Amino acid sequence: MSVIKKIALVGCTGSIGRQTLAVAGRHPEKFAVCCLVAHSSAAELTAAANRFMPAYAALTSGGAVAGLNPGIKFLSGSRAGLRAVEESGADIVVVACGGFAGLEYSLLALRMGARLALANKETLVCGGDIVMPLGGEIVPIDSEHSAIWQCLGFRRDAKFKNIIITASGGPFRDKKFEELEGVTPEQALAHPTWRMGAKITIDSATLLNKGYEVIEAHHLYGAGYGSIKTVIQPQSIVHSMVEFEDGAVLAQLSEPTMELPIQLALTYPERYDCALRPLDWSRAFSLEFLPLVRKNYPLYDLALTCGEAGGVLPAALNAASEEAVHAFLNKQITFCDIFRVVDTVVGRTVNERATSFEQLAGVDAACRHIAQSVIKKR
Ligand code: NDP
Ligand code: MG
Repeated sequence: MSVIKKIALVGCTGSIGRQTLAVAGRHPEKFAVCCLVAHSSAAELTAAANRFMPAYAALTSGGAVAGLNPGIKFLSGSRAGLRAVEESGADIVVVACGGFAGLEYSLLALRMGARLALANKETLVCGGDIVMPLGGEIVPIDSEHSAIWQCLGFRRDAKFKNIIITASGGPFRDKKFEELEGVTPEQALAHPTWRMGAKITIDSATLLNKGYEVIEAHHLYGAGYGSIKTVIQPQSIVHSMVEFEDGAVLAQLSEPTMELPIQLALTYPERYDCALRPLDWSRAFSLEFLPLVRKNYPLYDLALTCGEAGGVLPAALNAASEEAVHAFLNKQITFCDIFRVVDTVVGRTVNERATSFEQLAGVDAACRHIAQSVIKKR
């Protein structure tokens, strides 16, 4: 008899959150949603909660809800999401909110002894050095890391020679950085193969996202930076690969969809129907692989430099990038300014070993402050 797993979902109104609910809704015999957390999308949270009937629903903006089923306990305020997740006693915590905020949820999930199904990349980018020593069960949702995990037989400690992370290259793959000064938010938000939240879509256009993924892979798979390669795969069909000692390379392929890695993070090692359009082997198609030249993408290069340096620099990089992308989307700075702001903030950060959440939260706040003043002067 299969036991129903209780899922807490942080970021239930976002791109990953909605797809997680689609997966949970497809398999009600396997999953019960016990907690839903959003920031300010009150109406959507209410609709999702009334459909899935979790024990807890929370809004971290401090807002109110109308029409919520009275059987659901509602919490509101900046710590409400953390309290709701903790009190829900979930078996699996899906951390699918964006930004540095995800780190505290991930630490909580591991402290609760729950499975951490991790979409939020900032958790490991900013806090990998404090998260990984906690041990516990961390399963990736990011499609590249899921592909690697699948190639490794769902074992994060398996042996390999190299990890090869694929990148679509984003909408400006063939352009030089200097040519991108006049790019508008609308152009940068038009990703050729993936539909995602705004921050990660802009990071995909600058390739900062690929730098984040290298740092994530370093932490998740204990991989030295020298053994993580990246390659452009414009069709986004090959989601990543692993090369083994004997030269064999395994890859995971599928049409671009996040529902597959989300579902697998909930069901592994079992696989169930995923409503995924299968690859059509009856028609001719090609897969291209192009070298990803690090120096052509300044934010990717900077992310790798911060990752290799370690300590608090990746957290500084992230804080600055969250502020800079927000300012770009508000048309306060240009596309190329995103790099200039982040580079300035990283350059002003004194690096030290990352030792605690409180220290990283301090770095995050300080770097956001610097970033805002740099943005104001542009
Ligand atoms: P979205 O911007 O679409 O969604 C963010 C979600 O987080 C919303 O539900 C938002 O609520 C909620 N939220 C914001 N702040 C908080 C907070 N402090 N506490 C709790 N919830 C909060 O983002 P995505 O779904 O695109 O991405 C989420 C994460 O997953 C990011 O780290 C991203 O890098 C990663 N990821 C995303 C992929 C994708 O395909 N989208 C692929 C791989 C990784 P509200 O709606 O109320 O604002
Ligand atoms: Mg990814």
